[in-house]
Amino acid sequence: MDLGLKGKIAVITGASVGIGLAIAEGLAAEGTDLVLAARGGERLEAEAARIAEKYGVNAAAVVADVATAAGTEAIIAAAAEKGGADILINNAGTGSNETVMEAPDEKWQAYWDLHVMAAVRLARGIAPQMKRRGGGVILHNASICAVQPLWYEPIYNVSKSALMMFSKTLSTELIQDNIRVNCVNAGLILTPDWIKTAKQLTAETGGNWEGYLQAVANEHAASKRFGTPEELANVFVFLSSERASYCIGSTYFVDGGMLKTI
Ligand code: NDP
Repeated sequence: MDLGLKGKIAVITGASVGIGLAIAEGLAAEGTDLVLAARGGERLEAEAARIAEKYGVNAAAVVADVATAAGTEAIIAAAAEKGGADILINNAGTGSNETVMEAPDEKWQAYWDLHVMAAVRLARGIAPQMKRRGGGVILHNASICAVQPLWYEPIYNVSKSALMMFSKTLSTELIQDNIRVNCVNAGLILTPDWIKTAKQLTAETGGNWEGYLQAVANEHAASKRFGTPEELANVFVFLSSERASYCIGSTYFVDGGMLKTI
């Protein structure tokens, strides 16, 4: 199936590892040029160069913290330099661990800035570029936790839920400019970070990190396995394409059967 993504320009935040990197590769495989953002420059620049070489696309690396206005401005400027973006994937984010009773205001604010304000600021800067180019696609990587919380991470649950509502609200405002906005809620996706955590948690009890991950999958997902970043990226790539032209203002779950409601 030709997805018609060749020659498009995609901005992807959190693109140096894990899910963002898999989406970058998935789009590059379709011939999409990339503007990739993350805070750590070394890893990001190495991946941008590798992807450009492997797929023959243009891949720019922007070292930026999306939780700050200056960071999002740098990303918007980098996209403008390329003539504007057609696709924006708001992917940068991270889990949390706290209780509502103990977490300070600063922590709530930091996650609000990372998960919500980054998407707000990037939409304000990049949607006008898309409009000038005749339309575009904005995708938000929220989480199944936006609707089905994990109790150890209330700030993550709440801020991802806000991102999901932002996606819905934005979609109505931007469809008049032919910009389709959607949200994806993933379940357990096996990124290097999960492996690192599993290794840390099992280090003092025999090191069976694979057993730990299997137990997590058994507990949460009907499929009893983690998804791969590529399995999730496939959905982002499809939603980025014209083949998803009637997908507007929705949230798509990619969770191996983890969602417990209809
Ligand atoms: P990783 O921790 O593996 O990667 C996160 C990426 O985001 C890195 O490139 C990191 O680079 C970048 N990043 C983090 N903070 C910032 C920031 N402030 N500014 C710019 N870049 C940033 O995460 P995953 O791939 O696991 O997750 C990606 C997204 O998917 C997240 O939003 C997460 O909540 C969501 N998700 C993940 C699931 C999973 O099971 N893995 C399940 C459901 C949702 P650097 O540190 O250099 O900035």
